[in-house]
Amino acid sequence: MTTLTFKDMSLKPELLRMIAKKGFEEPSPIQEQAIPLALAGYDLMGQAQTGTGKTAAFGIPILQNIIAGQHCQALVVCPTRELAVQVAGEISSLGRLLNVRILPVYGGQSIDIQIRALRRGIDIIVGTPGRLLDHLNRGTIILDDLHYVVLDEADEMLDMGFLPDIQKILSLCPGQRQTFLFSATLGEDVRRLGSEFMQDPQIVEIETPELTVPLTEQHYYEVKRKHKLEAMCRIMAVEQPVVSLVFCRTKKGVDQLTRRLERKGYAADNLHGDMSQRERDFVMERFRRGNVKILVATDLAARGLDVEEVSHVFNYDIPEDPDGYVHRIGRTGRAGRTGTAVTLVEPDQKHQLHIIERHIGKKIQRRVLPSLNHTVENRQDKLLEQVNQVIARGNYDIYEPLALRLLDHNDAVQVLAAALKIVDGEGQEIEVLDPDNILEDTAHVELPLGKQQGLYPRRLVEFITNYTSIQARQVGDIEIHGNSSYVEIPMACVDEFYDAFIRYEKGRRRGARSKQHSRKQQAN
Ligand code: ADP
Ligand code: MG
Repeated sequence: MTTLTFKDMSLKPELLRMIAKKGFEEPSPIQEQAIPLALAGYDLMGQAQTGTGKTAAFGIPILQNIIAGQHCQALVVCPTRELAVQVAGEISSLGRLLNVRILPVYGGQSIDIQIRALRRGIDIIVGTPGRLLDHLNRGTIILDDLHYVVLDEADEMLDMGFLPDIQKILSLCPGQRQTFLFSATLGEDVRRLGSEFMQDPQIVEIETPELTVPLTEQHYYEVKRKHKLEAMCRIMAVEQPVVSLVFCRTKKGVDQLTRRLERKGYAADNLHGDMSQRERDFVMERFRRGNVKILVATDLAARGLDVEEVSHVFNYDIPEDPDGYVHRIGRTGRAGRTGTAVTLVEPDQKHQLHIIERHIGKKIQRRVLPSLNHTVENRQDKLLEQVNQVIARGNYDIYEPLALRLLDHNDAVQVLAAALKIVDGEGQEIEVLDPDNILEDTAHVELPLGKQQGLYPRRLVEFITNYTSIQARQVGDIEIHGNSSYVEIPMACVDEFYDAFIRYEKGRRRGARSKQHSRKQQAN
């Protein structure tokens, strides 16, 4: 197969210059296939794994054809605020020399600020569905001159229940336009959405297995559940990750691990789905700036995040499905950098590991946990280096009188060793597990009720605490979709929960019927 370069695509020189400046040497597979079709005027459905450059796959053709300074010509719809900001950033950096104006619009930011920015004239708008609709209703975004609509991360938008919003937005777009849909997966519902709003769409699918980023080193350690924290800290001591993303299965697990890492002196923070946008932004900003070195998250909270330079992905809990594994490790080894993915496998999770290996078509290498000695050695090297650095920099004379006083009664080696112990501090201690804090075995149970039935997280928790013996603190993750929801509860309470739910539902239906009945009688 001959491979296409960016130069072969007859792009504007300003665009080629920025592509080179961003360090894109050659198109990624999705870009190689999608860009020529998009330039040729086709509607397009593109599927490729997260982190493979889908943004530029639609951004480049749009930038190639846009004329700066007219009404909004391209609309990109994204699932989350982070993605809207990332996508706008990526397109704007590619379009820097073209004077194209791009604006991200999303909920949570003052709408007045957005309206003011929109008035100045914007060529490409990148937004989340709710806020876009808001602007469309107010007439602050007008789509009469639109040439391009992009549904980015379409699978995620559908997962988040945005289908009705997207349909509304698309119905407001002019018929004469080009439509692109990009997604990490092209399931039935995504394709249906595509064919509903596209004309003769070309489909580009990039097979996932060949994409398990070859630059990512993958290995696993077999560890008992109760030793996982200590194991991860040891691995970190040896591997010295610059920036790591750590995945836990549940929200509760995320909180607990973050707390424990912090207690051990690591710069860790967490991210989960139900945080307010402000909280999420704040954490992400600290992570991007390097003030936080370890970000702990659930899959849901981390989906679609593009954080540069994640050196290590830790699967603290092995992902439940093999696609999840591919998504998670796609966060490292991006764009030509090398990365490491470490999975902690509990003894009874070996079968899950094998399923993942079969899915990615590759063996994940087993590693033996570094011995404590090894980590101690490593830490000692680091201490030595720190001390030497301080000596080199000078400026410690205020401690000299103290040093002399200490040397009055002790010998130098003793004093130094004691001081080093203080510096090394908690690192030497081995975490004592608090039995109350160990995660209970939990189960995710599904309910046939969702947003459309008026369910929201607090109501669900109220129901659980009122009708079962489960306490609020035992309720873990909650996910509410359109017509269904999931909640994490202790494994031992699953039967009780369903019994209570069935009784409650029966009662509710009976109540509804008798109301109808009495209304009829009144009418008669
Ligand atoms: P996706 O939408 O598929 O998850 P993104 O568009 O967010 O992926 O791209 C992931 C990262 O890869 C970004 O940092 C982007 O700048 C970079 N990237 C995109 N295309 C290329 C390329 N051709 N060469 C090198 N890096 C690229
Ligand atoms: Mg993307």
